[in-house]
Amino acid sequence: MNKMCTFSASLWAMLLSATIVTGCQAENEPTPEQLTENTKAEQQTTSETDKKEEPSATAPDSNGQTGTSTPAAGISSNPSSNSPNQSGESGSYNQVSAPESISVLVNKQNKLPDQYKPKDLVYPDVPFVFSEKIEKRMMRAEAAGALEKMFAAAKQDGVALAGVSAYRSNATQTALFNRYAQKDGIEAARKYSAEPGHSEHETGLSIDVSGSTGECAAQDCFGGTEEAIWLEQNSWKHGFVIRYPKGKEAITGYQYEPWHIRYVGEENAKAIQDRGITLEEFSESPTAFAP
Ligand SMILES: [Zn+2]
Repeated sequence: MNKMCTFSASLWAMLLSATIVTGCQAENEPTPEQLTENTKAEQQTTSETDKKEEPSATAPDSNGQTGTSTPAAGISSNPSSNSPNQSGESGSYNQVSAPESISVLVNKQNKLPDQYKPKDLVYPDVPFVFSEKIEKRMMRAEAAGALEKMFAAAKQDGVALAGVSAYRSNATQTALFNRYAQKDGIEAARKYSAEPGHSEHETGLSIDVSGSTGECAAQDCFGGTEEAIWLEQNSWKHGFVIRYPKGKEAITGYQYEPWHIRYVGEENAKAIQDRGITLEEFSESPTAFAP
């Protein structure tokens, strides 16, 4: 009897928590159908960050590629104060010490502090592929200003860009990851989705960009489009880098994502562009490093 009660209570608690998670997610982000589609896409590519979630708000980062290479020690502006070897859900990681730095390194090995939320989120005045004024439209003020200038420059070149997904809160990422974990199991979920604190979208410095039609938004077919080529050639001039470049999967931990750009400031972006490196490599050897 007691056992039965205990069992029922646990079952009820599980159901209840499942309901809560689902409810939260539904509010914030993707619909179940979108998630299903996203999940499929992710599993196929095992790759990045956002592809999956874009239509909605969340963009998990996948772990498929495993960024084994970068020890991620000398990250962000203050490597010495990162606390190494926290025992994370998926192994050890460093806690980012200066999450507000525009050059902060967030990846599978480097995690934002729990519940970190940028203080200066604003709505950049640029078109998005959706009209709602919601979380995923926000970016940190400096990045938002740079984005506006970059979109204007693209327009002058005859290239119409649109935002797909920018800021994602820790709560959104948590809800998304939990949903995947619930569906496929935690180990499987880790292979294609970023765990909370590990998605660069949580910094407010990243955005997924597409053409104004939204076609191929955050999908592989965006590669090679005139918008993708324009970003590749020009985003650095405005302080952004293509964060997951082609051929750098082993370093970044993510497959090529021509749509995911990250604001690092003009000086850093130029240095990264000139040297043809990733933010991971730049963080280890930050010449022209700005705080
Ligand atoms: Zn992204």
